[in-house]
Amino acid sequence: MSTEPGSSPFVEIENDTFRNSVGTMDETGKRKWVFPRKPKGKYTNYRNYASYAMLALFFGLPFVKINGNPFLLINVIDRRFFILGQPFYLQDFFILALGAVTSVIFVMLFTVVFGRIFCGWLCPQTLFMEMVFRKIEYWIEGDRNKQMKLDRQEWDAEKIRKRLLKWSAFAFISLVIAHFMFMYIVGYEEVFRIMAEGPENHSLKFLVMIFFTLTFYFVFAWLREQVCTLVCPYGRLQGVLIDKQTINVYYDFKRGEGRSKWRNNEDRKAAGKGDCIDCHQCVVVCPTGIDIRNGQQLECVNCTACIDACDEVMDKVGLPRGLVRYATEAEIENQDSFKFTSRMKATTVFLALLIGFLGFLMYDRGSMEAKFIKPAGSTFFIKDDKITNTFIYTLLNKSNEKKILTIKVLTPVNAEINYFGSEKIILKGDEILKGNINITFPEKDIKFSKQNMVIGVFDEKGEMLDSFETTFEGPFKLLL
Ligand code: SF4
Ligand code: SF4
Repeated sequence: MSTEPGSSPFVEIENDTFRNSVGTMDETGKRKWVFPRKPKGKYTNYRNYASYAMLALFFGLPFVKINGNPFLLINVIDRRFFILGQPFYLQDFFILALGAVTSVIFVMLFTVVFGRIFCGWLCPQTLFMEMVFRKIEYWIEGDRNKQMKLDRQEWDAEKIRKRLLKWSAFAFISLVIAHFMFMYIVGYEEVFRIMAEGPENHSLKFLVMIFFTLTFYFVFAWLREQVCTLVCPYGRLQGVLIDKQTINVYYDFKRGEGRSKWRNNEDRKAAGKGDCIDCHQCVVVCPTGIDIRNGQQLECVNCTACIDACDEVMDKVGLPRGLVRYATEAEIENQDSFKFTSRMKATTVFLALLIGFLGFLMYDRGSMEAKFIKPAGSTFFIKDDKITNTFIYTLLNKSNEKKILTIKVLTPVNAEINYFGSEKIILKGDEILKGNINITFPEKDIKFSKQNMVIGVFDEKGEMLDSFETTFEGPFKLLL
């Protein structure tokens, strides 16, 4: 019985071999708490290394700057965005939108071919759950059997001590994660400033921080694998994204079935038995509480724990490894070995092109954005055979460097520009500047009441940084 954090009945999950419901629910719809055995083996080691790298990235990136800009900052409140140290503005929205669409296509194509590798190796939920919170749990409460025993026992001194220690550690780590998450929104300097000035000076931010801390605590202490099985939309999409050619963690049913317990010195082949010795080690290690031998299931996050567990068993009984392995369903059915198929190669190339395309968009968006708009209700005026239009310019410096800019009309020629001050416009890095200019043409050069005009913005080296197409207005009679 039981579980955690409460006292609902614990039900053994090992004997679930056939079912129509989510693996962590009993027939009445009640949650079955999962106590996975601590995984160990080759894939677990690889995942550990990958998780160390990703945790280092998560906790390190907020402090990384490129040319003084944050490496990654998504400040939706003040609408400040930095990706790879490059500032993005609302004017770059189409790139972000294209980036979002490209990412969705990328994820879908990737999943069609490579399955849920993202879930097991890269997803922050799996990363924090299995590589941080679960490890703390093992450290405080011990492995599966000890956790189950502790769960069943009365609330004595040992249980109170261990649970309080675990919950305090979980709350502290949730608080740390919430702080780092905020660094990705407002920057580490701001988070440190808020911390130094204390909650009394930032009550709203303090409440938001507490809210996110509690959310993380709830997710990692209680919700856990339910995020993957019930909440995550990506998990829900698996049914339509994977097919028989998709790589996933599979149980080799052709080799394994005829499962039966191991008997020393028995010739299993002669006895018509498969290689699965029905030891349930692949089941008890599963963090989502499923039996991989029932085939691909939506709960499976491809964490590879069952591969390691089964390989360990195979080693012990002297059978070949790989009864549970990364494979495609077609390979299992045809008993083929893994091949990097043409479909996989083509998809990999296409995914690389998609990333290249996105990189090109980000690289090619320019360091300057210029706009020239007529003030509302303004019109032209004529003096001394010259026609003048007023424009409001908006210059956005997307780089970190100071720019000294001049404005020139590219077409038509013969324009005069009145800057209402210095001809040199000085713009600091990451700055937006607005101002007025008058553009004047000899009356004879303006042939239409709305004459197309291109205005260029140049830096001090004479390089054009951006241009803008607009119209120059003249009197209607010039149409004649
Ligand atoms: S079935 Fe295997 S790979 Fe899938 S979640 Fe369970 S242990 Fe991980
Ligand atoms: S660990 Fe391997 S041998 Fe044991 S039950 Fe699972 S698939 Fe069968």
